[in-house]
Amino acid sequence: MGVLGAGQLGRMLALAGYPLELDFHFYDTSGSPSVGLGDITIDTEAKLDNPALADFLNDVDVVTYEFEHLPAQLTQYIESKSTLYPPSKSIEVCQNRAEEKALFTKLGIPTPAYHIVNSLEELKAAVEKLGCPIVTKTTREGYDGKGQFVIRQAEQCEAAWQAIGEGKNGTNTLIAEAFVNFSRELSIIAVRSADDSMKVYPLAENDHHEGILRYSIAPAAKVADDINAQANQYIKELMHELGHVGILTLELFETENGLVANEMAPRVHNSGHWSIEGAHCSQFENHLRAVSGLPLGCTEAQKLTCMINIIGEKGDTGSILSLPYANLHLYGKEEREGRKLGHVTVQADSHEELAWRVKNVASFLPGSPEFKHS
Ligand code: AMP
Repeated sequence: MGVLGAGQLGRMLALAGYPLELDFHFYDTSGSPSVGLGDITIDTEAKLDNPALADFLNDVDVVTYEFEHLPAQLTQYIESKSTLYPPSKSIEVCQNRAEEKALFTKLGIPTPAYHIVNSLEELKAAVEKLGCPIVTKTTREGYDGKGQFVIRQAEQCEAAWQAIGEGKNGTNTLIAEAFVNFSRELSIIAVRSADDSMKVYPLAENDHHEGILRYSIAPAAKVADDINAQANQYIKELMHELGHVGILTLELFETENGLVANEMAPRVHNSGHWSIEGAHCSQFENHLRAVSGLPLGCTEAQKLTCMINIIGEKGDTGSILSLPYANLHLYGKEEREGRKLGHVTVQADSHEELAWRVKNVASFLPGSPEFKHS
């Protein structure tokens, strides 16, 4: 299995793949791999004529990725020489918010009203049309709330443009979208095989702080049947349309008028880490099964689960390890502010019990925000 990217998602893919007798070779373009498992090739220039790329492609049967901000010329080249799953079309759509929104619109999936802007003047015009507040985002490369600016008053357009419009290498294209008054954030994760078979995980409820996911509960509480059906229909249509093979994640806002799509990721996702202990077959194993042509595994939840991200500091891991209802996953990374260092999975028989247990675990993790959920 060849994997583009060599961070914690690659690490958890490998941990799920070794029992299936898969071996891993990671191709890292960041220069700082943390995967800690398998063979690693580092190529920060991602040059197509690099002999290391040819060696990597010779060494692997299929290429997948754990990171979608990859140069299109690299993924298209790999696709021309080997099997790339999910296909480059999935990456190209998911790494560009403008294309993502266009696809949602084409398929009739509700998404916030938006304008694409390339200058301060266009941003001002978009604010006038949409009305404040609006959320502006770079169309490419944004993640964990980076590359995002909320404009609450029209006078903030200059500040927003300076903060995210004027990029290091010239002007960034921005998307200016209407602010959604959502009751909660949900995500749906599904897997598709090349023969069009699909399986969908239960919806997860996600709690973000300062743009970073902190808690994810699955199955989400109090999901109405029509909301569940909508989410299933949207993700299946997206996978089918993209010819997607592997895991696809769709982030959604729940509103009074139903679901509104925010963005998607063509890969295993932080809001699916609960599935390692919480589902019959984890998102990592199902991704590997799909991209290597194996039958898909059961996506049903075995138990009510909450995933707590460990951000910045590892905290009191000894106390967490002493709890009979918690599982600790560390990613082999040095402590640094805002960095995802690991996660803890907590399981319980009821939402009340889960809330109590999560609060207990969070008390051992410095800086954890208050845990609230529906
Ligand atoms: P994103 O990078 O698009 O996932 O955005 C990060 C977070 O910003 C989301 O998880 C939401 O909490 C918030 N957000 C993004 N877009 C909107 C929007 N249009 N309206 C309200 N909140 C938003």
